[in-house]
Amino acid sequence: MAETILQFNHGIAKTKPNSFRRQIACPFCNRESLTDILDTKGPMIWLKNKYPVLKDAFQTVLIETDKCDSELSEYALPYLTELLHFAVEKWLALEVSGRYQSVLFFKNHGPLSGGSIRHPHMQIVGLENVDYRDRLREEYFDGTLIDASRDVVFNLSTRPMIGFTEFNVVMSDDGQLEQAAEYIHITSHYILNHFNNKGCNSYNLFFYHWKNRILTKIVPRYPTTPLFIGYGLRQVATNAESVIDDIKKLYFNES
Ligand SMILES: [Zn+2]
Repeated sequence: MAETILQFNHGIAKTKPNSFRRQIACPFCNRESLTDILDTKGPMIWLKNKYPVLKDAFQTVLIETDKCDSELSEYALPYLTELLHFAVEKWLALEVSGRYQSVLFFKNHGPLSGGSIRHPHMQIVGLENVDYRDRLREEYFDGTLIDASRDVVFNLSTRPMIGFTEFNVVMSDDGQLEQAAEYIHITSHYILNHFNNKGCNSYNLFFYHWKNRILTKIVPRYPTTPLFIGYGLRQVATNAESVIDDIKKLYFNES
């Protein structure tokens, strides 16, 4: 298997602000002070990451909105669709530039997501020496169907990458981003408000461009299970059917 160890720069990480751990002025609200802007679209800003902690990588941030305390699941669906169009365009443009082995596109939300700034944003990261697709398996995106429309499939993983709960949205790379946006919208709203009855405050959103498809994984975050940390054992929850029933009742008017 190809080498996939990324080098993390501890010196830069130490200087990085963290709006979860302490009260700081939000760097993404102070728009006049932002530098290295790559492109903008309305209130969306794509710029270089001021704290590039990864070695041999081009790290960028996409500020989603000018509303600091908003959240992806709270956007109107047309706004989320527009945001995803903008972000996917930038992501795929870095890919075709040929400068990187692969390009990551992901989002952290909440204190357990690995994120450090609350203000809604995504990250697009070009990796010079690593192809994340070397690690992928088809089964990570297989699952029990929740819904499908316009050739976009929405499922719950039966053989997740880590576990317990991983939602997938699968479409062709020339497919209907509007439909994918709707499923991502539903999933993030469900995770934050209803998952495990009271909601989960953190999630990650990961995008993969693989075999002419755009695959999305949406994962509620808790402390990672020790069985995975110590033994690499993946787990699925036994209440998967009730999670799917809940989503169908709440968002697809099925009883
Ligand atoms: Zn802010």
